[in-house]
Amino acid sequence: MSLPTILDLAHTLAGQGVEDGGIAIDATVGNGHDTLFLAHSAGPTGQVFGFDVQEEALAEARRRLRADEAPQAPVQFVQAGHETMGQELSESVEGRVGAVMFNLGYLPGGDQSVTTSPDTTRRALDISTTLLRPGGVITVVAYTGHEGGGEEARTVESWVASLPQASFRAVTYRLANARNDPPQLFAVEKRAD
Ligand code: SAM
Repeated sequence: MSLPTILDLAHTLAGQGVEDGGIAIDATVGNGHDTLFLAHSAGPTGQVFGFDVQEEALAEARRRLRADEAPQAPVQFVQAGHETMGQELSESVEGRVGAVMFNLGYLPGGDQSVTTSPDTTRRALDISTTLLRPGGVITVVAYTGHEGGGEEARTVESWVASLPQASFRAVTYRLANARNDPPQLFAVEKRAD
């Protein structure tokens, strides 16, 4: 048995929220690994939306999806910040989203000065809670090793801690003995009852 990595665990938890034929959102598309995972989870009758501010990221994600032959949901990419989710998605999506995945920071292999930021991340998280269906899941992987990353992780931590217990279950995972700024995973489930 080996313990799952933070990214494996993010997939496991987000995947529990996505039903076959369901709706999912990748809030930080980057190179498209999470988008592809969500597209597989939702299946051909589902729908995935993917947000990123960089055309370079969306182009790489499109390539990744095209190269994959397994059945996948159609993906609608939006080149805009995830904080605009509320305006970009139709009202019909509200309360029906099974998973929203955030993988914060900068595009691996890309411009390290373009990163997610505490204020817009927090706004996107607030909107995500209204989009989630009961039983739906938000995952956030936060990195503390780059400039501003520590502040952003603390912002997410306090946002998660502020969620009302009657409506949400929230957990945090972190490597207990890693020395070099290990990533953290936050996961939030909207209670079904
Ligand atoms: N999930 C990705 C994957 O599977 O490859 C990795 C995401 S990467 C760590 C973070 C991404 O967030 C970058 O591609 C960056 O352009 C994007 N980003 C930065 N600010 C953003 C914002 N306000 N809204 C959406 N994406 C943003």
